[in-house]
Amino acid sequence: MVDLVSQYTAIKQEIDQEIQNVINSSIYINGPKVGEFACNLAGYVESKYALGCGNGTDAIQIALMALDLQPGDEVITTPFTFVATVEVISLLGLVPKFVDIDPQTFNLDVSQLEDVITDRTRVILPVHLFGQATEMSRLMTIANKHNLSVIEDNAQSIGCDVKVGEKWQKTATVGDFGTFSFFPSKNLGCYGDGGAIVANKEEHYTRAKMIAKHGSKLKYHYDVIGINSRLDAMQAAILDVKLQYLDDYIQRRQHAAEIYDTSLAEIEGVTIPHRADYSTHVFHQYTLRVNANRDKLKEDLAAQGIPSMIYYPKALHLQPAYQYLGYKEGDFPHAELACKEVLSLPMHTELSIDQQNFIIDNLINNLA
Ligand SMILES: *Cc1c(COP(=O)(O)O)cnc(C)c1O
Repeated sequence: MVDLVSQYTAIKQEIDQEIQNVINSSIYINGPKVGEFACNLAGYVESKYALGCGNGTDAIQIALMALDLQPGDEVITTPFTFVATVEVISLLGLVPKFVDIDPQTFNLDVSQLEDVITDRTRVILPVHLFGQATEMSRLMTIANKHNLSVIEDNAQSIGCDVKVGEKWQKTATVGDFGTFSFFPSKNLGCYGDGGAIVANKEEHYTRAKMIAKHGSKLKYHYDVIGINSRLDAMQAAILDVKLQYLDDYIQRRQHAAEIYDTSLAEIEGVTIPHRADYSTHVFHQYTLRVNANRDKLKEDLAAQGIPSMIYYPKALHLQPAYQYLGYKEGDFPHAELACKEVLSLPMHTELSIDQQNFIIDNLINNLA
């Protein structure tokens, strides 16, 4: 699905040098590299503030904690996402409220948002899934009307542009907080765990920073209950190198997606990814809908040496851990159908035309 070694080989000298510099500096936690990377990330997405943290899950948790919510407050999100999004809502004693997805984009269906807003709703937490933005313009209008905070889970969509009003801007910078994961296979991946939070309001940034640092502004003085979540210096140094290549990496993904699109658009039995007019697509995943026998197709491809993945096989409202929320089968039909039909093909920055042709030819033969 990904080829991280080839990607490293292409920038080995720079990466090795940066790692060596961190070792020589003997500053392994915090220090200048962490600050430099945060500054460059803020510059890249054009947000006022950025803060490194331990991983993408922590990033969402810190953002939620920074909003000063009360147990029982409701957070609206999608049931068709990685579990991290919902897990942290529950862990904080907040209540996840799901909205079904738009079957074309797989993202939270903004037209259904107002149906689930109650007097306990405090936050909308959209996930920009697979590399494409949720419809933020409409989402923000609703959030503002109901005085709700917005956290964008941008773990899969760093570098994506979304149209808000007449203006295009980077995802993660539209709401109050945007969160990132630098898990190795994400579009900007480090060589371990890493994450970040961006914000445009100083009060949001200072609160998030305090929470990520044990709830303290001044060492050994604790203003609120916090956590310990840090991006380490070596990962920051690696990310700072790779951030310079991110736009090139995105272009390579988009190019690979166009090749898949062209070859598969007219093939019966599969539907290629939809491109919303309010968003670019940075193709964290290239996800097809397979109209019938998806699991058999996956097995056939595997037998020919072609990996593919199902993101996600079961919606979160049907998972045992979240039964306590009281949802049942049929509550979110579009999310449930997506779980039966989606299939993600290999997608990465080192995908060659020969590899893609091999994948495409086998896929078409298996469908015939
Ligand atoms: C990867 C991911 C996360 C979690 O990131 P980690 O760095 O693994 O903690 C959260 N949300 C989404 C949508 C993700 O894809």
